[in-house]
Amino acid sequence: MSKQPLHTILLIEDDPGDAALIREMLEQQGCRAQVVTVERLSAGISHLQQNCCDVILLDMNLPDSSGLSTMTRLLDAEPGVPIIVLTGLSDEGFGVEAVKLGAQDYLVKSDIDGRVLKRAMFYAVERKKLELALKQTRDLFERQARIDYLTGIYNRLMFNELLEAELQRARRYGSDLALIMFDLDHFKQVNDTYSHTMGDHVLKEVAQLVSENIRAHDIFTRWGGEEFTVLIPKSNRDQALVLAEKLRQLCEEHDFGDGLKVTASFGVTQLRADETVELFIGRADQALYLAKSNGRNRVEAL
Ligand code: GH3
Ligand code: MG
Ligand code: MG
Ligand code: MG
Repeated sequence: MSKQPLHTILLIEDDPGDAALIREMLEQQGCRAQVVTVERLSAGISHLQQNCCDVILLDMNLPDSSGLSTMTRLLDAEPGVPIIVLTGLSDEGFGVEAVKLGAQDYLVKSDIDGRVLKRAMFYAVERKKLELALKQTRDLFERQARIDYLTGIYNRLMFNELLEAELQRARRYGSDLALIMFDLDHFKQVNDTYSHTMGDHVLKEVAQLVSENIRAHDIFTRWGGEEFTVLIPKSNRDQALVLAEKLRQLCEEHDFGDGLKVTASFGVTQLRADETVELFIGRADQALYLAKSNGRNRVEAL
């Protein structure tokens, strides 16, 4: 662990005596950090919006906030700064609860001495760093598990989750839900004739082209290989057919580099009352199969 000096400490404490005591202890410990003292939670939050801070010492009972909500409000406003809660002897239980809710530590005011305070601040800063790094890694893993690494669009896992939510919504409100499934034509030849790298490039371009031409709430997924789906909330089969035809044309007209042309075949369907997910997806797949067998670079709807 690196022991970097603290630069700024925010002390949120409404009792002038307690505040003075803490400042004195810090001075006695040779702490050279700037200590900013405010008496209200609102003042603390506005200070944090404008200024950097390494650690917060927080009295939970303030003129404008009391109890655990003081800690949670502060944490919501500034999740990146470690908080050490200061409690009275009679409300030590709140300190424990505060730690469970995200504070790094709690100190009972009557027990604090300079060394304890200094050590608590050091550990709070280091633990917070670890907590943030862990959160970053977890967010990254969660994202990677749902995003296709090549194209950056949703993968099948994410599709399945979102499809379930959209199905429920469509059933609850009796709204339409349509699905387009498309597959690049003779894509194996692209890989064989050019290269696998060129094939990858085409997949990325297709993903970008389609992303730019659908609405924000349409759910675009790499279903697998060179096959994609667009789930379209509040749209019926005919509306989806129009979108599929637009996407087909865009793909046909696009220059993928060095004059390379790639087309795609599209299957379209809409959710029917009381059918299973499997039937819904299966019908889009059948429509796509029809588009392939009817000559490719075309749209079929079922
Ligand atoms: P069709 O018109 O019937 O769909 O013919 P096709 O050649 O597109 O179909 P096929 O299923 O025979 O081939 C799909 C090809 O897609 C084979 C596979 O190597 C290629 N492919 C799948 N995933 C990737 C990928 O991530 N990158 C690249 N470059 N190629 C991929
Ligand atoms: Mg107080
Ligand atoms: Mg194909
Ligand atoms: Mg395929």
